[in-house]
Amino acid sequence: LKPDLSGDFSKLMEWADGVRRLKVRTNAETPDDAQTARGFGAEGIGLCRTEHMFFDPARIISMREMILAETEQGRRTALDKLLPYQRQDFIDLFRIMKGLPVTIRLLDPPLHEFLPHGDGEIAEVANAAGVSEAIVRRRLLDLTEANPMLGHRGCRLGISYPEIYEMQVRAIFEAAIEVSKDGGNPVIPEIMIPLIVGKKELEILKAAIIKVAAEVEAEKLAKLTFLVGTMIELPRAALKAGEIAEEAEFFSFGTNDLTQTTFGLSRDDASRFLDTYISKEIFAGDPFVSLDQEGVGELVSIAADRGRATRPDIKLGICGEHGGDPSSIAFCEAQGLDYVSCSPYRVPIARLAAAQAALDRKSS
Ligand code: PEP
Ligand code: MG
Repeated sequence: LKPDLSGDFSKLMEWADGVRRLKVRTNAETPDDAQTARGFGAEGIGLCRTEHMFFDPARIISMREMILAETEQGRRTALDKLLPYQRQDFIDLFRIMKGLPVTIRLLDPPLHEFLPHGDGEIAEVANAAGVSEAIVRRRLLDLTEANPMLGHRGCRLGISYPEIYEMQVRAIFEAAIEVSKDGGNPVIPEIMIPLIVGKKELEILKAAIIKVAAEVEAEKLAKLTFLVGTMIELPRAALKAGEIAEEAEFFSFGTNDLTQTTFGLSRDDASRFLDTYISKEIFAGDPFVSLDQEGVGELVSIAADRGRATRPDIKLGICGEHGGDPSSIAFCEAQGLDYVSCSPYRVPIARLAAAQAALDRKSS
């Protein structure tokens, strides 16, 4: 069901757009979501979660093969199968977004989501990789983590296995060159690194990205322009934002993980005691819905200040679920962030909330 965006509604939105300062982007990784968000007035993609692109049955088997491989060569063989899919993913998104900014986050899977479960999946991946089931089972034991959300995920995977991000970045650059040939504005991808805790990870990964860019430029006889930035989604990253900004052209606050790690509260299990906590006024509300402005918000504010002190023109956005919540959007306005990014169906609400926040700010 598509809402009617014509008539009075579009007038109201036009008025709101004339008032707001915050840009509104969307979180999208499928062409459908990107198209829907554009229809709702999204001004770019603030978060493309690339791990979601690999669950398709045609791809998940290669992804499992890659994760389970014991050697770099084994991983590269599986990644070569994924590259054409990934390149097409970005070609589609860049075409839909028509020169609007697109922030692509490199792979951030909690590893268990990519591991085979049950005998059938184990047999399937052993067959695809040409190894025995016993080898797959042994590798599974090596890779299984007690706490995957705090484990080998995000950039940690990119540091351990650089070839994963190399494949993704190659796909991004090849797609950007392809779509730039359509005419119009050249595509300037924004490449985002997840789950860093400090500057060193970004330094290592950025050097790898620049190397791939140079290779692709030489192969395609083309010039690439791109940005490299990072998620700020762990308390340590927020505190070290001054140093991190030496390497990052933008920060995007991942307030889902930042809330989880600041509270020490699993984002998947919080509902078990949330009602009691709210009724006893320990929490003002669900901190995963409305940003905890006193705690998590203070980390956002510290990171924004320290980032700007190093790099005054650093671009700042938010891409956690809070990016679509009106009171959190008011907080983002007060912090002077550049944009919020939210799921496609929240885009109209975010446009209105951003306008309201701008008006409130002017009148206060
Ligand atoms: C976040 O942590 O806020 C975020 C946007 O990333 P994800 O939800 O994919 O962990
Ligand atoms: Mg996150």
